[in-house]
Amino acid sequence: MDFRLGEKAELLRKETIEFLDEHLTEEILEGCHATGVNHDVEFAKAVRDRGWLTMGWSVEDGGDGRDPLELIAYGEEMHRRNAPMYAIGTTMGIAHLIQKLGTDEQQREIIPKALNAEIVIALGFTEPENGSDAAAAATRAVRTGDGWTINGSKMFTTNAHIADYVFMLARTNPDVSKHRGLTTFLVPLDQPGVEVQAVRTMSGERTNITFYNDVFVADKWRIGEVDGGWTVMATAFLTEHSASFHAEQWRLVEAFERWARESGRLRDGDVAARIGKSHTEFEVSTLLQRRAAWAASEGLDAHGLGSMSKLFSTERLEQQANETLSLVGPDGLRARGDDTAVQRGTIEHMVRHAKGTTIYAGTSEIQRNIIGQHVLGLPRSY
Ligand SMILES: Cc1cc2nc3c(=O)[nH]c(=O)nc-3n(C[C@H](O)[C@H](O)[C@H](O)COP(=O)(O)OP(=O)(O)OC[C@H]3O[C@@H](n4cnc5c(N)ncnc54)[C@H](O)[C@@H]3O)c2cc1C
Repeated sequence: MDFRLGEKAELLRKETIEFLDEHLTEEILEGCHATGVNHDVEFAKAVRDRGWLTMGWSVEDGGDGRDPLELIAYGEEMHRRNAPMYAIGTTMGIAHLIQKLGTDEQQREIIPKALNAEIVIALGFTEPENGSDAAAAATRAVRTGDGWTINGSKMFTTNAHIADYVFMLARTNPDVSKHRGLTTFLVPLDQPGVEVQAVRTMSGERTNITFYNDVFVADKWRIGEVDGGWTVMATAFLTEHSASFHAEQWRLVEAFERWARESGRLRDGDVAARIGKSHTEFEVSTLLQRRAAWAASEGLDAHGLGSMSKLFSTERLEQQANETLSLVGPDGLRARGDDTAVQRGTIEHMVRHAKGTTIYAGTSEIQRNIIGQHVLGLPRSY
């Protein structure tokens, strides 16, 4: 068995590293850190100019048909360096969805702007009362003339304050079972009645709560059939549940190793043991992610395998960060921005950041439910 990614993927990895060396400046990283926003317009334009915004799109969809192993190498390097890819990911993910399921008019309006890095699309699934159970969405969309009136609120609408649209799941029929009464819309955020309030997370990330008070949305912004939103969401969620955070594990162990060498603590048995353990856990996460990507590319049910990869990488990351900090000691608590911060605050930040990774893109409990159902064949429990 050969677990390497192959020549094409390694070539793309090399190109990605060169691209990041050139375009991912300290200024950009500092800006993202200071604002808590994982997006930078100049960086997004550089990705556009390199022809990488459609990374992962097939040739028929207008991409360059990279294979899953190439995508792994690309994603690993972007995440390892903490490049601002979140808004690019949500925007291009929904643009891709529109390419597949949208009307001609939606495609004409959205795709060229997305391809030109001119717009940002945020995701509006989670609500104050419904997160894991997105199908319980209570935000209402009611037919009004040639459109819809939206009332409700969405929690954690990350990037809504810089976005042009939110891809929203709304309830259009309260009289049928919950999965059957939902519709998806691309809501323009410049509409009257939209309010965006900042929410700061423990990791310093800025997200938002968004309120919709009698917001009118023309029917041309409906994506998919009326009450057919859950089918549209199935495509959107599939990639979420296969998220892996092994590149973060990599970033952390690299910082820890550098610290150990520079501080002379490499000879400390506990430090050496943690480095060994971290590398092993990183390797297991990497292999779980590759297996999920391989299964998806073979047309197999990758749902549970993606969940294993997400679950393991995030829970190990959280433990790895805590143990790393306890070995570095109080010095490790100084944050980026303080000249004396250990490894420019990478370890301190990872302790806070790791918690969130076990929540978004499906919590650990939800991943366990999916594994139980899809891998172990247990009865559905949610
Ligand atoms: C930083 C950040 C950014 C985010 N960005 C976005 C975004 O851009 N757009 C968006 O729509 N959402 C976003 N989210 C929301 C995220 O997807 C949700 O937080 C997540 O789905 C969990 O939902 P919840 O917070 O409502 O928790 P809940 O679903 O209320 O869960 C609370 C607890 O109960 C557990 N639980 C729930 N259901 C079950 C079950 N059936 N079995 C066992 N345990 C269960 C959960 O695991 C959790 O521990 C973001 C979240 C964070 C933290």
